[in-house]
Amino acid sequence: MTKYIFVTGGVCSGLGKGVAASSIGSLLEHHGLTVRMLKIDPYINVDPGTMSPYQHGEVYVTDDGAETDLDLGNYARFTSSPLGRPNSVTTGQVYQEVIRKEREGQFLGRTVQVIPHITDEIKSRIFKVGEEPGVDATIVEIGGTVGDIESIPFLEAARQFIHDLGRGRVLYVHLTLVPAVSDGEPKTKPTQHSVAALREIGIQPDILLCRSAEPLPEVLARKISLFTNVEDEAVISAYNVQHTVYEIPLIFAEQKLDQIIMTKLSLQHSPCDLSDWRKVVDTYRGAAHAVRIGLAGKYTELLDSYKSIYEALYHGGVANGCRIELVKVDSDHLPRGEELGRLLSGLNGVLIPGGFGQRGIEGMVDAAGWARRNRLPCFGICLGMQVMVIEYARSLLGWKDANSTEFVPNCEHPVISLLEEQIDVKSYGGTMRLGASQSRTLPGSRMREIYGQEVISERHRHRYEVSNLYRARLAEAGLKFSAFTLDDSLVEAAEWPDHPWGLGVQFHPEFKSKPVAPHPLFASFVAACLSHA
Ligand code: GLN
Repeated sequence: MTKYIFVTGGVCSGLGKGVAASSIGSLLEHHGLTVRMLKIDPYINVDPGTMSPYQHGEVYVTDDGAETDLDLGNYARFTSSPLGRPNSVTTGQVYQEVIRKEREGQFLGRTVQVIPHITDEIKSRIFKVGEEPGVDATIVEIGGTVGDIESIPFLEAARQFIHDLGRGRVLYVHLTLVPAVSDGEPKTKPTQHSVAALREIGIQPDILLCRSAEPLPEVLARKISLFTNVEDEAVISAYNVQHTVYEIPLIFAEQKLDQIIMTKLSLQHSPCDLSDWRKVVDTYRGAAHAVRIGLAGKYTELLDSYKSIYEALYHGGVANGCRIELVKVDSDHLPRGEELGRLLSGLNGVLIPGGFGQRGIEGMVDAAGWARRNRLPCFGICLGMQVMVIEYARSLLGWKDANSTEFVPNCEHPVISLLEEQIDVKSYGGTMRLGASQSRTLPGSRMREIYGQEVISERHRHRYEVSNLYRARLAEAGLKFSAFTLDDSLVEAAEWPDHPWGLGVQFHPEFKSKPVAPHPLFASFVAACLSHA
Protein backbone atom coordinates (compact mmCIF):
# COMPACT_ATOMS: atom_id res chain seq x y z
CA MET A 1 0.00 0.00 0.00
CA THR A 2 2.34 2.71 -1.22
CA LYS A 3 1.56 6.24 -0.13
CA TYR A 4 1.75 9.04 -2.69
CA ILE A 5 3.22 12.45 -1.99
CA PHE A 6 2.72 15.08 -4.67
CA VAL A 7 5.01 18.09 -4.65
CA THR A 8 3.77 21.14 -6.55
CA GLY A 9 5.13 24.64 -6.90
CA GLY A 10 3.47 28.03 -6.82
CA VAL A 11 4.13 31.74 -7.43
CA CYS A 12 7.17 31.32 -9.66
CA SER A 13 9.61 28.77 -10.97
CA GLY A 14 13.07 28.09 -9.64
CA LEU A 15 12.11 27.81 -5.97
CA GLY A 16 13.83 24.45 -5.59
CA LYS A 17 11.01 21.92 -5.84
CA GLY A 18 13.51 19.26 -6.83
CA VAL A 19 15.61 19.79 -3.73
CA ALA A 20 12.48 20.00 -1.56
CA ALA A 21 11.12 16.72 -2.96
CA SER A 22 14.55 15.10 -2.60
CA SER A 23 14.88 16.32 0.98
CA ILE A 24 11.54 14.74 1.84
CA GLY A 25 12.74 11.52 0.21
CA SER A 26 15.96 11.64 2.18
CA LEU A 27 14.18 12.21 5.50
CA LEU A 28 11.82 9.30 4.92
CA GLU A 29 14.73 7.04 4.00
CA HIS A 30 16.47 8.06 7.21
CA HIS A 31 13.44 6.67 9.00
CA GLY A 32 14.02 3.31 7.32
CA LEU A 33 11.31 3.76 4.68
CA THR A 34 11.61 2.70 1.05
CA VAL A 35 11.06 5.61 -1.27
CA ARG A 36 10.59 6.09 -5.00
CA MET A 37 11.04 9.42 -6.77
CA LEU A 38 9.32 10.53 -9.96
CA LYS A 39 9.49 13.76 -11.95
CA ILE A 40 6.77 15.05 -14.21
CA ASP A 41 7.73 17.66 -16.79
CA PRO A 42 4.81 19.34 -18.53
CA TYR A 43 6.69 20.24 -21.73
CA ILE A 44 5.94 18.55 -25.04
CA ASN A 45 9.47 17.34 -25.75
CA VAL A 46 9.59 13.58 -25.23
CA ASP A 47 12.69 14.10 -23.10
CA PRO A 48 15.15 16.95 -22.51
CA GLY A 49 17.81 15.16 -24.60
CA THR A 50 17.29 17.41 -27.59
CA MET A 51 17.03 20.68 -25.66
CA SER A 52 19.76 23.27 -25.38
CA PRO A 53 21.40 23.41 -21.96
CA TYR A 54 20.33 27.06 -21.87
CA GLN A 55 16.70 25.99 -22.09
CA HIS A 56 16.79 23.32 -19.55
CA GLY A 57 20.12 22.99 -17.76
CA GLU A 58 21.86 19.67 -17.61
CA VAL A 59 20.48 16.47 -19.08
CA TYR A 60 20.80 13.82 -16.40
CA VAL A 61 21.47 10.32 -17.74
CA THR A 62 20.37 7.19 -15.89
CA ASP A 63 21.90 3.70 -16.02
CA ASP A 64 19.25 2.52 -18.47
CA GLY A 65 20.17 5.34 -20.84
CA ALA A 66 17.21 7.66 -20.26
CA GLU A 67 17.95 11.35 -20.84
CA THR A 68 16.09 13.06 -18.04
CA ASP A 69 15.49 16.26 -16.14
CA LEU A 70 18.27 17.51 -13.88
CA ASP A 71 16.04 16.98 -10.84
CA LEU A 72 16.69 13.27 -11.19
CA GLY A 73 20.25 14.19 -10.32
CA ASN A 74 18.96 15.74 -7.10
CA TYR A 75 17.01 12.57 -6.35
CA ALA A 76 20.17 10.53 -6.97
CA ARG A 77 22.23 12.71 -4.63
CA PHE A 78 19.68 12.82 -1.81
CA THR A 79 18.03 9.40 -1.96
CA SER A 80 18.67 5.83 -3.03
CA SER A 81 15.52 5.54 -5.15
CA PRO A 82 16.31 3.54 -8.29
CA LEU A 83 16.10 5.94 -11.24
CA GLY A 84 15.53 5.19 -14.87
CA ARG A 85 13.18 5.68 -17.76
CA PRO A 86 9.96 5.24 -15.69
CA ASN A 87 11.01 7.96 -13.24
CA SER A 88 10.82 10.80 -15.71
CA VAL A 89 7.47 11.52 -17.36
CA THR A 90 6.74 14.30 -19.87
CA THR A 91 3.65 15.51 -21.71
CA GLY A 92 5.38 14.34 -24.90
CA GLN A 93 5.65 10.76 -23.65
CA VAL A 94 2.08 10.69 -22.40
CA TYR A 95 0.56 11.98 -25.64
CA GLN A 96 2.84 9.82 -27.77
CA GLU A 97 1.57 6.73 -25.95
CA VAL A 98 -2.12 7.72 -26.01
CA ILE A 99 -1.93 8.54 -29.73
CA ARG A 100 -0.16 5.22 -30.40
CA LYS A 101 -2.99 3.37 -28.64
CA GLU A 102 -5.59 5.36 -30.54
CA ARG A 103 -3.98 4.50 -33.89
CA GLU A 104 -3.99 0.84 -32.88
CA GLY A 105 -7.70 1.07 -32.24
CA GLN A 106 -7.34 0.33 -28.53
CA PHE A 107 -10.02 2.85 -27.53
CA LEU A 108 -12.72 0.95 -29.43
CA GLY A 109 -14.27 3.88 -31.24
CA ARG A 110 -14.54 6.19 -28.25
CA THR A 111 -13.61 9.88 -28.36
CA VAL A 112 -10.12 10.18 -26.89
CA GLN A 113 -10.00 13.00 -24.32
CA VAL A 114 -7.77 14.63 -21.74
CA ILE A 115 -10.03 13.22 -19.03
CA PRO A 116 -9.96 10.24 -18.72
CA HIS A 117 -7.49 9.07 -21.37
CA ILE A 118 -4.57 11.43 -20.79
CA THR A 119 -5.08 11.45 -17.01
CA ASP A 120 -5.32 7.63 -17.00
CA GLU A 121 -2.04 7.38 -18.86
CA ILE A 122 -0.43 9.76 -16.34
CA LYS A 123 -1.81 7.79 -13.41
CA SER A 124 -0.69 4.46 -14.85
CA ARG A 125 2.86 5.83 -15.14
CA ILE A 126 2.83 6.95 -11.52
CA PHE A 127 1.37 3.63 -10.37
CA LYS A 128 4.02 1.75 -12.32
CA VAL A 129 6.72 3.32 -10.16
CA GLY A 130 4.74 3.31 -6.91
CA GLU A 131 3.19 -0.14 -6.96
CA GLU A 132 6.48 -2.02 -6.97
CA PRO A 133 6.52 -4.38 -3.99
CA GLY A 134 7.99 -2.99 -0.77
CA VAL A 135 7.69 0.71 -1.62
CA ASP A 136 6.44 2.79 1.31
CA ALA A 137 6.15 6.18 -0.36
CA THR A 138 6.34 7.53 -3.89
CA ILE A 139 7.18 11.19 -4.21
CA VAL A 140 5.88 12.77 -7.40
CA GLU A 141 7.24 16.18 -8.29
CA ILE A 142 5.10 18.08 -10.76
CA GLY A 143 7.26 20.48 -12.74
CA GLY A 144 6.16 24.01 -13.61
CA THR A 145 4.06 26.38 -11.54
CA VAL A 146 0.42 25.97 -10.53
CA GLY A 147 -1.58 28.10 -12.94
CA ASP A 148 0.43 27.05 -16.03
CA ILE A 149 -1.75 25.70 -18.82
CA GLU A 150 0.64 22.80 -19.43
CA SER A 151 0.45 21.31 -15.97
CA ILE A 152 -3.35 21.14 -15.67
CA PRO A 153 -3.72 17.48 -16.80
CA PHE A 154 -1.03 16.41 -14.33
CA LEU A 155 -2.64 18.30 -11.44
CA GLU A 156 -5.99 16.79 -12.40
CA ALA A 157 -4.41 13.31 -12.32
CA ALA A 158 -2.91 14.13 -8.91
CA ARG A 159 -6.34 15.22 -7.68
CA GLN A 160 -7.88 11.93 -8.83
CA PHE A 161 -5.52 10.01 -6.55
CA ILE A 162 -7.70 10.99 -3.58
CA HIS A 163 -10.76 9.81 -5.46
CA ASP A 164 -9.06 6.53 -6.41
CA LEU A 165 -7.14 5.71 -3.23
CA GLY A 166 -8.78 7.71 -0.45
CA ARG A 167 -7.38 10.42 1.81
CA GLY A 168 -5.04 8.34 3.94
CA ARG A 169 -2.80 7.36 1.06
CA VAL A 170 -2.25 10.70 -0.62
CA LEU A 171 -0.53 13.89 0.50
CA TYR A 172 -0.10 17.22 -1.25
CA VAL A 173 2.94 19.35 -0.50
CA HIS A 174 3.03 22.81 -2.04
CA LEU A 175 6.18 24.91 -2.30
CA THR A 176 5.53 28.64 -2.50
CA LEU A 177 7.37 31.92 -2.22
CA VAL A 178 7.06 34.43 0.60
CA PRO A 179 8.86 37.40 -0.92
CA ALA A 180 10.13 40.35 1.07
CA VAL A 181 9.20 43.80 -0.26
CA SER A 182 11.31 46.94 -0.11
CA ASP A 183 11.36 47.37 3.67
CA GLY A 184 12.16 43.66 4.12
CA GLU A 185 8.64 42.80 5.21
CA PRO A 186 7.69 39.29 4.06
CA LYS A 187 4.39 39.08 2.17
CA THR A 188 1.96 36.17 2.27
CA LYS A 189 -0.44 37.23 -0.49
CA PRO A 190 1.29 35.34 -3.34
CA THR A 191 1.08 32.18 -1.24
CA GLN A 192 -2.63 32.75 -0.56
CA HIS A 193 -3.26 33.18 -4.30
CA SER A 194 -1.23 30.18 -5.25
CA VAL A 195 -3.09 27.95 -2.78
CA ALA A 196 -6.38 29.37 -4.09
CA ALA A 197 -5.31 28.37 -7.61
CA LEU A 198 -4.55 24.88 -6.39
CA ARG A 199 -7.91 24.61 -4.63
CA GLU A 200 -9.68 25.68 -7.81
CA ILE A 201 -8.35 22.48 -9.37
CA GLY A 202 -9.64 20.55 -6.38
CA ILE A 203 -6.42 20.10 -4.45
CA GLN A 204 -6.21 21.25 -0.83
CA PRO A 205 -2.54 21.19 0.15
CA ASP A 206 -1.68 19.36 3.37
CA ILE A 207 1.72 20.95 3.82
CA LEU A 208 3.17 24.27 2.68
CA LEU A 209 6.87 24.81 2.24
CA CYS A 210 7.37 28.57 2.29
CA ARG A 211 10.48 29.68 0.53
CA SER A 212 11.83 32.95 1.92
CA ALA A 213 15.10 34.72 2.50
CA GLU A 214 14.86 34.60 6.30
CA PRO A 215 13.13 32.08 8.57
CA LEU A 216 9.38 32.72 8.49
CA PRO A 217 8.14 34.57 11.61
CA GLU A 218 5.63 32.58 13.67
CA VAL A 219 2.84 35.16 13.17
CA LEU A 220 3.12 34.90 9.42
CA ALA A 221 3.03 31.11 9.52
CA ARG A 222 -0.21 31.41 11.52
CA LYS A 223 -1.61 33.93 9.06
CA ILE A 224 -0.81 31.63 6.12
CA SER A 225 -2.41 28.75 8.00
CA LEU A 226 -5.59 30.77 8.56
CA PHE A 227 -5.92 31.77 4.93
CA THR A 228 -5.08 28.39 3.42
CA ASN A 229 -6.59 25.85 5.84
CA VAL A 230 -3.20 24.22 6.24
CA GLU A 231 -2.52 23.34 9.89
CA ASP A 232 -0.20 25.67 11.79
CA GLU A 233 2.62 23.20 12.23
CA ALA A 234 2.37 22.10 8.59
CA VAL A 235 3.38 25.57 7.40
CA ILE A 236 7.11 24.97 7.09
CA SER A 237 9.74 27.64 6.61
CA ALA A 238 12.03 26.79 3.70
CA TYR A 239 14.39 29.67 4.25
CA ASN A 240 17.60 30.29 2.34
CA VAL A 241 20.44 28.16 3.64
CA GLN A 242 23.86 29.70 4.08
CA HIS A 243 26.27 27.14 2.73
CA THR A 244 24.72 24.27 0.85
CA VAL A 245 21.45 22.70 -0.25
CA TYR A 246 22.44 19.67 1.79
CA GLU A 247 21.33 21.64 4.85
CA ILE A 248 17.72 21.52 3.71
CA PRO A 249 16.81 18.06 5.04
CA LEU A 250 18.21 19.26 8.37
CA ILE A 251 16.10 22.44 8.53
CA PHE A 252 13.02 20.45 7.51
CA ALA A 253 13.72 17.89 10.23
CA GLU A 254 14.07 20.66 12.82
CA GLN A 255 10.51 21.71 11.98
CA LYS A 256 9.35 18.07 12.17
CA LEU A 257 8.32 17.86 8.53
CA ASP A 258 9.20 14.15 8.53
CA GLN A 259 6.95 13.50 11.57
CA ILE A 260 4.07 15.45 10.04
CA ILE A 261 4.26 13.48 6.79
CA MET A 262 4.55 10.11 8.51
CA THR A 263 1.68 10.85 10.88
CA LYS A 264 -0.61 12.08 8.11
CA LEU A 265 0.13 9.01 6.00
CA SER A 266 0.30 6.54 8.95
CA LEU A 267 3.76 5.37 7.89
CA GLN A 268 5.37 2.91 10.32
CA HIS A 269 8.95 4.00 10.80
CA SER A 270 12.11 3.70 12.84
CA PRO A 271 13.95 6.59 14.56
CA CYS A 272 15.90 8.95 12.37
CA ASP A 273 19.67 9.43 12.43
CA LEU A 274 20.82 12.29 10.23
CA SER A 275 24.44 12.24 11.37
CA ASP A 276 25.75 11.41 7.87
CA TRP A 277 24.16 14.59 6.46
CA ARG A 278 25.23 16.65 9.41
CA LYS A 279 28.78 15.48 8.81
CA VAL A 280 28.64 16.57 5.15
CA VAL A 281 27.38 20.02 6.11
CA ASP A 282 29.80 20.45 9.03
CA THR A 283 32.84 19.29 7.04
CA TYR A 284 32.11 21.77 4.31
CA ARG A 285 31.24 24.59 6.66
CA GLY A 286 34.32 24.02 8.79
CA ALA A 287 36.81 23.59 5.93
CA ALA A 288 39.98 25.57 6.52
CA HIS A 289 41.08 25.79 2.87
CA ALA A 290 39.46 26.48 -0.46
CA VAL A 291 40.61 25.39 -3.90
CA ARG A 292 39.94 27.39 -7.04
CA ILE A 293 38.75 25.21 -9.87
CA GLY A 294 38.11 26.59 -13.34
CA LEU A 295 35.20 25.18 -15.30
CA ALA A 296 36.24 25.61 -18.92
CA GLY A 297 32.95 25.09 -20.71
CA LYS A 298 30.80 26.98 -23.15
CA TYR A 299 27.54 27.00 -21.24
CA THR A 300 28.99 28.72 -18.17
CA GLU A 301 26.37 31.51 -18.20
CA LEU A 302 23.89 29.00 -16.85
CA LEU A 303 25.59 26.96 -14.14
CA ASP A 304 22.68 24.50 -14.12
CA SER A 305 24.09 23.23 -17.42
CA TYR A 306 26.80 21.58 -15.34
CA LYS A 307 24.73 20.85 -12.26
CA SER A 308 26.01 17.35 -11.52
CA ILE A 309 29.61 18.41 -12.17
CA TYR A 310 29.65 21.17 -9.64
CA GLU A 311 27.79 19.06 -7.12
CA ALA A 312 30.37 16.28 -7.63
CA LEU A 313 33.21 18.79 -7.17
CA TYR A 314 31.54 19.89 -3.97
CA HIS A 315 31.45 16.22 -2.85
CA GLY A 316 35.15 16.02 -3.71
CA GLY A 317 35.60 19.01 -1.41
CA VAL A 318 33.77 17.18 1.37
CA ALA A 319 36.05 14.15 0.83
CA ASN A 320 39.12 16.37 1.22
CA GLY A 321 37.82 18.73 3.89
CA CYS A 322 38.12 21.77 1.63
CA ARG A 323 35.76 24.24 0.00
CA ILE A 324 35.43 24.61 -3.76
CA GLU A 325 35.59 28.01 -5.34
CA LEU A 326 34.23 27.51 -8.83
CA VAL A 327 35.60 29.89 -11.45
CA LYS A 328 33.68 30.14 -14.71
CA VAL A 329 36.07 30.04 -17.64
CA ASP A 330 33.97 30.75 -20.73
CA SER A 331 35.79 28.70 -23.38
CA ASP A 332 34.19 30.74 -26.15
CA HIS A 333 35.89 33.94 -25.04
CA LEU A 334 39.23 32.77 -23.73
CA PRO A 335 42.22 35.06 -24.20
CA ARG A 336 45.28 33.55 -25.85
CA GLY A 337 48.98 33.61 -25.07
CA GLU A 338 50.18 35.34 -21.93
CA GLU A 339 46.77 36.52 -20.91
CA LEU A 340 45.50 32.94 -20.89
CA GLY A 341 48.43 32.10 -18.63
CA ARG A 342 47.48 34.91 -16.27
CA LEU A 343 43.91 33.66 -16.11
CA LEU A 344 44.77 30.00 -15.55
CA SER A 345 47.73 30.51 -13.23
CA GLY A 346 45.30 31.79 -10.60
CA LEU A 347 43.62 28.38 -10.51
CA ASN A 348 44.43 25.15 -8.69
CA GLY A 349 42.82 22.97 -11.32
CA VAL A 350 40.73 23.05 -14.44
CA LEU A 351 37.81 20.87 -15.44
CA ILE A 352 36.76 20.63 -19.08
CA PRO A 353 33.17 19.37 -19.17
CA GLY A 354 31.02 17.72 -21.83
CA GLY A 355 29.35 19.57 -24.65
CA PHE A 356 28.23 19.51 -28.25
CA GLY A 357 29.13 21.55 -31.33
CA GLN A 358 32.19 23.49 -32.34
CA ARG A 359 31.71 26.74 -30.44
CA GLY A 360 34.28 27.15 -27.69
CA ILE A 361 36.38 24.15 -28.69
CA GLU A 362 39.59 26.02 -29.53
CA GLY A 363 39.46 27.74 -26.12
CA MET A 364 39.18 24.37 -24.43
CA VAL A 365 42.15 23.04 -26.45
CA ASP A 366 44.21 26.07 -25.38
CA ALA A 367 43.23 25.60 -21.75
CA ALA A 368 44.13 21.89 -21.87
CA GLY A 369 47.51 22.68 -23.48
CA TRP A 370 48.31 25.30 -20.87
CA ALA A 371 47.36 22.92 -18.04
CA ARG A 372 49.45 20.10 -19.51
CA ARG A 373 52.57 22.25 -19.96
CA ASN A 374 52.20 24.04 -16.64
CA ARG A 375 51.38 20.97 -14.53
CA LEU A 376 47.96 22.26 -13.52
CA PRO A 377 45.56 19.43 -12.53
CA CYS A 378 43.17 18.91 -15.41
CA PHE A 379 40.05 16.74 -15.58
CA GLY A 380 38.35 16.17 -18.93
CA ILE A 381 34.86 14.75 -19.07
CA CYS A 382 33.47 13.35 -22.32
CA LEU A 383 34.05 16.24 -24.74
CA GLY A 384 36.72 17.34 -22.25
CA MET A 385 38.62 14.11 -22.77
CA GLN A 386 38.24 14.41 -26.55
CA VAL A 387 39.72 17.91 -26.32
CA MET A 388 42.67 16.60 -24.28
CA VAL A 389 43.35 14.01 -27.00
CA ILE A 390 43.10 16.60 -29.78
CA GLU A 391 45.50 18.92 -27.94
CA TYR A 392 47.95 16.08 -27.40
CA ALA A 393 47.89 15.12 -31.07
CA ARG A 394 48.45 18.71 -32.16
CA SER A 395 51.25 19.43 -29.68
CA LEU A 396 53.15 16.13 -29.49
CA LEU A 397 52.56 14.64 -32.91
CA GLY A 398 52.66 17.95 -34.72
CA TRP A 399 49.28 17.32 -36.41
CA LYS A 400 48.16 20.92 -36.41
CA ASP A 401 44.78 20.07 -37.90
CA ALA A 402 43.99 17.19 -35.50
CA ASN A 403 40.34 17.44 -34.61
CA SER A 404 37.05 15.64 -34.11
CA THR A 405 34.90 14.94 -37.16
CA GLU A 406 32.10 16.52 -35.13
CA PHE A 407 33.77 19.88 -35.72
CA VAL A 408 35.79 19.44 -38.92
CA PRO A 409 34.38 16.49 -40.85
CA ASN A 410 37.19 16.38 -43.41
CA CYS A 411 40.23 17.12 -41.26
CA GLU A 412 43.41 15.25 -42.09
CA HIS A 413 43.87 13.78 -38.61
CA PRO A 414 40.44 12.94 -37.21
CA VAL A 415 41.68 11.61 -33.85
CA ILE A 416 38.08 11.72 -32.64
CA SER A 417 35.51 10.27 -34.99
CA LEU A 418 31.99 8.96 -35.17
CA LEU A 419 31.16 5.62 -33.60
CA GLU A 420 30.67 2.98 -36.27
CA GLU A 421 27.02 2.41 -35.31
CA GLN A 422 26.33 6.16 -35.41
CA ILE A 423 27.21 6.68 -39.05
CA ASP A 424 23.70 6.13 -40.42
CA VAL A 425 21.80 7.64 -37.52
CA LYS A 426 19.61 10.49 -38.73
CA SER A 427 17.24 11.13 -35.85
CA TYR A 428 18.35 13.14 -32.81
CA GLY A 429 16.30 11.96 -29.82
CA GLY A 430 17.83 9.18 -27.73
CA THR A 431 20.18 7.94 -30.43
CA MET A 432 23.60 8.50 -28.85
CA ARG A 433 25.66 5.95 -26.94
CA LEU A 434 23.63 6.29 -23.75
CA GLY A 435 23.61 4.83 -20.27
CA ALA A 436 25.78 2.54 -18.19
CA SER A 437 28.40 0.27 -19.60
CA GLN A 438 31.41 -1.46 -18.17
CA SER A 439 35.04 -0.77 -18.83
CA ARG A 440 38.33 -2.27 -17.76
CA THR A 441 41.01 -0.14 -16.10
CA LEU A 442 44.66 -0.78 -16.92
CA PRO A 443 46.89 -2.10 -14.10
CA GLY A 444 49.41 0.50 -12.95
CA SER A 445 47.34 3.40 -14.29
CA ARG A 446 45.96 6.35 -12.35
CA MET A 447 42.49 5.10 -13.24
CA ARG A 448 43.18 1.73 -11.58
CA GLU A 449 44.68 3.42 -8.56
CA ILE A 450 41.68 5.72 -8.14
CA TYR A 451 38.98 3.10 -8.60
CA GLY A 452 40.93 0.27 -6.96
CA GLN A 453 39.01 -2.01 -9.29
CA GLU A 454 39.56 -3.63 -12.64
CA VAL A 455 36.01 -3.51 -13.97
CA ILE A 456 33.99 -0.34 -13.48
CA SER A 457 30.59 0.82 -14.68
CA GLU A 458 29.89 4.40 -15.72
CA ARG A 459 27.31 6.24 -17.81
CA HIS A 460 27.76 7.57 -21.31
CA ARG A 461 26.18 10.21 -23.52
CA HIS A 462 28.09 10.80 -26.73
CA ARG A 463 28.38 9.96 -30.42
CA TYR A 464 32.10 10.40 -31.00
CA GLU A 465 35.09 8.34 -29.80
CA VAL A 466 38.87 8.27 -29.85
CA SER A 467 39.56 6.88 -33.31
CA ASN A 468 41.13 3.43 -33.19
CA LEU A 469 43.15 4.33 -36.28
CA TYR A 470 45.14 6.80 -34.16
CA ARG A 471 45.30 4.94 -30.87
CA ALA A 472 48.77 3.45 -31.45
CA ARG A 473 50.36 6.69 -32.67
CA LEU A 474 48.98 8.66 -29.73
CA ALA A 475 50.17 5.99 -27.30
CA GLU A 476 53.65 6.03 -28.86
CA ALA A 477 53.71 9.78 -28.31
CA GLY A 478 53.14 9.11 -24.62
CA LEU A 479 49.38 9.51 -24.13
CA LYS A 480 48.33 6.72 -21.81
CA PHE A 481 45.01 5.12 -22.61
CA SER A 482 44.05 3.64 -19.27
CA ALA A 483 40.54 2.22 -19.62
CA PHE A 484 38.72 0.45 -22.43
CA THR A 485 35.38 -1.18 -23.05
CA LEU A 486 35.47 -4.86 -22.06
CA ASP A 487 35.87 -5.91 -25.71
CA ASP A 488 38.71 -3.41 -26.04
CA SER A 489 36.94 -1.71 -28.95
CA LEU A 490 36.65 1.77 -27.43
CA VAL A 491 38.90 4.02 -25.37
CA GLU A 492 37.31 5.10 -22.07
CA ALA A 493 40.13 7.08 -20.42
CA ALA A 494 43.34 8.90 -21.31
CA GLU A 495 46.09 10.15 -18.98
CA TRP A 496 48.90 12.61 -19.51
CA PRO A 497 52.32 11.16 -18.75
CA ASP A 498 54.58 12.87 -16.18
CA HIS A 499 51.88 15.19 -14.95
CA PRO A 500 50.54 15.69 -11.41
CA TRP A 501 46.97 14.96 -12.50
CA GLY A 502 45.84 15.02 -16.13
CA LEU A 503 43.04 12.64 -16.85
CA GLY A 504 40.16 12.49 -19.28
CA VAL A 505 37.24 10.07 -19.28
CA GLN A 506 34.79 9.39 -22.08
CA PHE A 507 31.96 8.78 -19.60
CA HIS A 508 30.17 10.99 -17.06
CA PRO A 509 31.28 10.12 -13.52
CA GLU A 510 29.46 13.17 -12.13
CA PHE A 511 26.09 11.41 -12.39
CA LYS A 512 27.06 8.88 -9.71
CA SER A 513 28.53 11.12 -7.03
CA LYS A 514 26.69 11.68 -3.75
CA PRO A 515 27.50 13.99 -0.84
CA VAL A 516 27.65 10.97 1.46
CA ALA A 517 29.64 8.94 -1.11
CA PRO A 518 31.84 11.26 -3.22
CA HIS A 519 32.89 9.82 -6.56
CA PRO A 520 36.53 8.62 -6.39
CA LEU A 521 37.54 10.52 -9.54
CA PHE A 522 36.28 13.82 -8.12
CA ALA A 523 37.78 13.08 -4.70
CA SER A 524 41.15 12.39 -6.34
CA PHE A 525 40.98 15.44 -8.64
CA VAL A 526 40.13 17.77 -5.75
CA ALA A 527 42.97 16.21 -3.70
CA ALA A 528 45.35 17.07 -6.56
CA CYS A 529 43.98 20.63 -6.69
CA LEU A 530 44.49 20.91 -2.94
CA SER A 531 48.14 19.81 -3.28
CA HIS A 532 48.54 22.39 -6.03
CA ALA A 533 47.11 25.05 -3.74
N1 GLN B 1 29.98 16.02 -28.51
C1 GLN B 1 30.74 14.91 -28.06
C2 GLN B 1 30.20 13.59 -28.60
O1 GLN B 1 29.09 13.51 -29.00
C3 GLN B 1 30.83 14.86 -26.56
C4 GLN B 1 29.50 14.65 -25.89
C5 GLN B 1 29.53 14.98 -24.43
O2 GLN B 1 30.42 15.66 -23.95
N2 GLN B 1 28.54 14.54 -23.70
O3 GLN B 1 30.91 12.61 -28.60
